[in-house]
Amino acid sequence: MVGGVTEELDLADIGGFAQATLSFALPQRGPIPNDWENADGLYCVRCGGKRRMSIVRLRWTGNSSQGRADFWADEACPGLFAMTCVQCQLRHTVLVHSGPDGPEIAIFSPERGGFSTPNTPENVRYYLDQAHRAESVGAPSAAVAMYRSAVEMLLFEQGYEEGMLNKKIEALEADPNPRPWRGQIDPDYLDVLKKLGNAAIHPNDGDVERQKALDRSLLIEVRATFEELLETIYERPAKAAARKQKLSEAVESITQP
Ligand SMILES: [Zn+2]
Repeated sequence: MVGGVTEELDLADIGGFAQATLSFALPQRGPIPNDWENADGLYCVRCGGKRRMSIVRLRWTGNSSQGRADFWADEACPGLFAMTCVQCQLRHTVLVHSGPDGPEIAIFSPERGGFSTPNTPENVRYYLDQAHRAESVGAPSAAVAMYRSAVEMLLFEQGYEEGMLNKKIEALEADPNPRPWRGQIDPDYLDVLKKLGNAAIHPNDGDVERQKALDRSLLIEVRATFEELLETIYERPAKAAARKQKLSEAVESITQP
């Protein structure tokens, strides 16, 4: 980190955040060094994407004299920070606290959003927001369950209203007259999201250890999959319609006397 940001960090992960905050070394209790004003990257709910953040320490007694941000010392927790999006200035509150397996990070946003796209319907957005909130406080199983609900609401909203998620996916696959997007998405996506969601909410033979598979790196993949779904189902048609409208207006203005 010294001399600036050289790699993209995941600031929602305690490891990434600790690396980004190495510069908080005692006795350096003064202003944050400039090279961290652009620390990568946190999902900004207002921008709807990962953004660079400036980080301010509000309360923290830790130090990095051991060559690391010392969140791992008991006396350093809790730590309170603010991360401000360099693009939209939205300020996120960050709490580093002692968890059952060591320090954990929880991020709170002043605005609803989760990740979504401009044309994502409100009812789908609701579940994405819930997923994002669960993920932000270190509850990945709960997040995956909400992603599953978001898939189900998406299919409901697209006209597949009968039954549970499995039935909705079957109805989509069997639809003789589907929406154009059906041919543009990999059908495995929906199936995999369904299976992950089921694994998150079902007992799995009583073995909660299996929930560990639903970790942060998996959530990043789930989000990427969802981003692709939203782009294909809502954004591309909206962009195409807007383009068509513009072209039609141009034709009209040329052909009319
Ligand atoms: Zn932002």
